Amino acid sequence: MIHQAVLVIGAGIAGIQASIDLAQMGFQVYLVERSPSIGGRMAQLDKTFPTNDCAICILAPKMIECAGHENVNLLTYSEVVAVEGHAGDFRVRVRKKPRYVNLERCTSCGECVEKCPRRVPDDFNVGLSRRRAIYLPFPQAVPRKMTIDAEYCLYLVNREKGRCRLCEEVCQAGAIDWEQQEEIATLNVGAIVVATGFDPYDVSALEEYGFGTISNVITGLQYERLVSASGPTTGELSRPSDGKHPHTVAFIQCVGSRDVNYNPYCSSVCCMFATKEAILANEHDPKTSSYIFYTDLRAGGKRFQEYIARAQEEYQVTYIRARPGIIGENPETGDPIVRYEDTNLRKVQEMEVDLVVLCQALIPRNGQQEVADTLGILLDEYGFVHTPERLLRPVDTSVPGVFACGYCQSPQDIPDSVTQASGTAARVAELLLRE
Ligand SMILES: Cc1cc2nc3c(=O)[nH]c(=O)nc-3n(C[C@H](O)[C@H](O)[C@H](O)COP(=O)(O)OP(=O)(O)OC[C@H]3O[C@@H](n4cnc5c(N)ncnc54)[C@H](O)[C@@H]3O)c2cc1C
Repeated sequence: MIHQAVLVIGAGIAGIQASIDLAQMGFQVYLVERSPSIGGRMAQLDKTFPTNDCAICILAPKMIECAGHENVNLLTYSEVVAVEGHAGDFRVRVRKKPRYVNLERCTSCGECVEKCPRRVPDDFNVGLSRRRAIYLPFPQAVPRKMTIDAEYCLYLVNREKGRCRLCEEVCQAGAIDWEQQEEIATLNVGAIVVATGFDPYDVSALEEYGFGTISNVITGLQYERLVSASGPTTGELSRPSDGKHPHTVAFIQCVGSRDVNYNPYCSSVCCMFATKEAILANEHDPKTSSYIFYTDLRAGGKRFQEYIARAQEEYQVTYIRARPGIIGENPETGDPIVRYEDTNLRKVQEMEVDLVVLCQALIPRNGQQEVADTLGILLDEYGFVHTPERLLRPVDTSVPGVFACGYCQSPQDIPDSVTQASGTAARVAELLLRE
């Protein structure tokens, strides 16, 4: 028996693309996403290299197409908890967390958010702003419905006290549902696609770079949120300590990657996203000059080298071959001071800048080991999904019928994730249509 249905785990750009392709081919798709909305990391980006297209403008129509497809069954706020069976015939159990909001009734008007008194760090804005305990993760979220974060909701953390419930009071649609319980769904599928993506590496481990102690040292993902119109400053590039527009920005490459002390591999996208972010700094304010401190430039994709040339010629971006040793701070101005050896000039130098952006290593998502254990697949030494036949079957995992695409299996950018997702859909079809 070969079930004509597929489980896709993770709804970033890779999982979304694989789901759309499979749904178009006529297979039933169960797309399981751990967070309240689909979209993944791409939803957090401002523009995308090498075209500088607006990320959410490209992603949002895909999210809507995917969620609205008659063959796609979206299971958000859900996780796979058990899998048994074999290629063609898997039995999967999925746990759906309660949102405490009735999705049919919620109109996402936002009244509840305004009244909610509990403020918590906003993950979507990488801690640069605060959200409420009841929230919409981002304006283009799909489904566009509220979720109550049970970890922080004043009522849910201590029901006996019966405190708060303001969201319930103001919700005219009567959508708040305190009785919602965890649900378990059982699915029968013929194949499984893993597309669980990446997390940014915690760079506070590299104490010499001052992340967490020097205010004007931020990460690449935080920078994306700062320049984004839907971000905490509505797109104004202002530095954290005093709100000043930075006119000199230093981007440090390979922070925690290509380093045997942390992650020896190359995270693959940082040379290009630093170039993009430097271009954006200059577009936001033409008086801005950027300095990219690189180990060696990796610009292997289509039109990537030309993109770097444009950054140098049109946007005042200077590339310095150096791995800074330490970042200090001018106590009067709050300006970070980068100390480095320029390995082309063989000179130790210092540069005082307005803002430092650490382009941190990207690592497999937390929970990747649990996903691997549940599916019985192997991970490589860095925690990415092991694909044993890398040359000729690059999306096949160590378990027949289970495939992997996107960043969860190897560092890669959006075009490569999309290509790999479509390749995965083709491999799944080949398996499911077999006589
Ligand atoms: C600062 C920065 C800037 C970048 N800029 C660009 C750019 O300009 N151009 C470009 O091409 N690339 C860029 N990238 C790279 C790009 O973000 C990735 O290539 C892309 O997001 C990979 O997509 P993905 O679907 O594989 O993973 P993700 O986007 O990480 O999506 C994975 C999804 O899986 C979900 N998930 C995880 N675990 C589970 C689980 N156990 N169960 C269910 N769901 C789960 C997650 O919640 C998430 O929604 C940038 C990266 C960074 C860090």
